[in-house]
Amino acid sequence: MQTRISLALLMCMSGAAAAQQSMVGYSAANAGRQRELEASAVKRPSPVSASAHSKELSRETHVAGTAAQARTRDYVINQMKKWGIETQVRAYDVWMPHPTAVHVARVSPQPKEFALAEPPVPGDATSSTWQYPTVNGYSGEGDVTAEVVYVNYGLIEDYAQLDSIGVSVKGKIAVALYGRSFRGIKAREAEKHGAVGLLIYSDPQDDGFVVGDVYPDGPMRNSAGVQRGSILNPNGDPSTPGYGSTAGVARLTPDRMQISHIPVVPISYGNATELLKYVRGAAVPRGWQGGLAFRYHVGPGPVKARVAVRDDRATKPMKPIYDTFGMVRGSDFPDELVIVGGHRDGWGPGAADNVSGTVSVLEAARAIAEELKAGVRPRRTIIFATWDAEEWGLLGSTEFVEDDSARLSRDAVAYLNQDVAAQGSRFGGGGSPSLRPTLRDVARVVADPNGQGSVYSEWRRASAVADTTEPAMGDPGGGSDFAGFYNHLGIPIAEWGFGGAGGVYHSQYDSYAWMTKFGDTGFHYHAAAAKVGTAMLLRIANADILPYDYVEFARTVRRYVAPIDSAVGRRHWNAPTTSLRASIDRLEREAAAFNATRDSALAGTVANPTLQHANRSLMQVERALIRPQGLRSRPWFRNLIYVADENNGYANMAMPSINEAIRASDEALTRGEIEDLAGRFDKAAQALVDARSALRSR
Ligand SMILES: [Zn+2]
Repeated sequence: MQTRISLALLMCMSGAAAAQQSMVGYSAANAGRQRELEASAVKRPSPVSASAHSKELSRETHVAGTAAQARTRDYVINQMKKWGIETQVRAYDVWMPHPTAVHVARVSPQPKEFALAEPPVPGDATSSTWQYPTVNGYSGEGDVTAEVVYVNYGLIEDYAQLDSIGVSVKGKIAVALYGRSFRGIKAREAEKHGAVGLLIYSDPQDDGFVVGDVYPDGPMRNSAGVQRGSILNPNGDPSTPGYGSTAGVARLTPDRMQISHIPVVPISYGNATELLKYVRGAAVPRGWQGGLAFRYHVGPGPVKARVAVRDDRATKPMKPIYDTFGMVRGSDFPDELVIVGGHRDGWGPGAADNVSGTVSVLEAARAIAEELKAGVRPRRTIIFATWDAEEWGLLGSTEFVEDDSARLSRDAVAYLNQDVAAQGSRFGGGGSPSLRPTLRDVARVVADPNGQGSVYSEWRRASAVADTTEPAMGDPGGGSDFAGFYNHLGIPIAEWGFGGAGGVYHSQYDSYAWMTKFGDTGFHYHAAAAKVGTAMLLRIANADILPYDYVEFARTVRRYVAPIDSAVGRRHWNAPTTSLRASIDRLEREAAAFNATRDSALAGTVANPTLQHANRSLMQVERALIRPQGLRSRPWFRNLIYVADENNGYANMAMPSINEAIRASDEALTRGEIEDLAGRFDKAAQALVDARSALRSR
């Protein structure tokens, strides 16, 4: 106990001392001013204001393409205008059919048409308002009746296990659990294995009564709760793969789009019970028993179900979506862009997903606008974005990135993402390893809402890491709006938020009432997320030299080489990683040399053109790690450091060009990909050399 207290004190003191001494990328004079600015700016986001935005933005279900979602656009734009921020709306027409009818029924035994909607609950005003039909986004159309097969989570390995016990989903309706993979992969695998329809349900063992009390008594999913969500696997409008959905562009017809061809419908565990308890046939393999109170069986049948989905693809599949932008122009480097964004659409009222992220963006915008009024203009341009149709497959951010790729590739310094910024009290963060140290630093300047120190110290305490290590941070894989910036263009990204127990994901019950009762009762964590955003934006926007850390980057990516060595070794291949290791070593060496040159340069004064020259070179480091022709599996994904695993969608894969070659059992390709990536690390290291010579020749 004693030891812990004194250690904490010691850490506090050393932190404070370090704070006064230096700030990465800042001259001593600018660091002092920046400390004052951040201290002032992070006081501005407020729980009262966050709660007011949240209440307004979650007053109705606002699915992309609906009138309600156009109203959230207007709210955000009006707020930003009120604060004196320049605004812009970009509209894109996208192929996005909305359902017109959905049916799920048990045909036998004892025919029963299921009630699919989520019923009103007491104390939750929006639970009795209009809700979006329970159909997965980009479901196929169809009306099928067939026997049911239980497929566990519907993973590739689950189908392999079904094969091994002689059970096929061919011509059947598959019933899968939510979780462990992206639902789009579940839909793809069900269709690939011949299922004619797919029902996906939330098992109580994952986010229902097995985990905690259910809504409205607790935060978890009740027996009628449904997780909606898209099953689109590629990112962006499926009718314009790889380019912006602007007026007049050529579009794929539906038969050429990469979309599902079978009806896919999410159901509650109440309805799943009414099917699964009648399934017989093979006993479930070990580990497949879920949380419902009967023995699960695989089938097929004898229970038969009907799944029917109709949508408006024949009549009006094209819908307008709207991204909003607020802009504060930079004083010294106006072309360099620091962007924060969050998606504005939801599947229901969306208080957590993603009104909380939108509120974080709004409150950071308000804070920085107020500093501007007080006479402090950021040195770089800051953009506050809200994206539409993220929920359908990152459409708004992807179309924007594709539309504006030349400018973003050239000028974007960082993209900061806010998706579910606050639904609990536990901080988590991640992103490109180059921005992780900056995120940790700014988490030190924001007080934790529980009143016991900073967000950073609470984060450390909750993650119980040793004194010598930092809390674990997430890798950018996929699944939110950073993908266009990171995976497609190689722009460094960061994300953060406060998590907690949640069983209302993509449900009508993701509401202001749920948030005030369980998620963030006083909106203090919404404000804290915005404070982190405010400090992060200002820290990057005002730096003399951009605070990327390529030492941490090199050390992080080096860890991915040993698993490649073992995989290659197990296969007895000739695919040495010597060149890859050498180029990562070189990157770390050049990064350390750059940092030393940077710090000594900033001990004096450096003219803006020199800073700009160095910064432009620094911005090329991660750009060098994208490959214009992309991954072999997915050309849109060009960043060779991280990607979402194409067989899972949630799990991440590091160094995907190499690891996908290994997975494809291709020795020569693996050897080639190792050399290819090594060459790109050399280019990245060269960008650091360029940045360093810019500073030395001043
Ligand atoms: Zn979201």
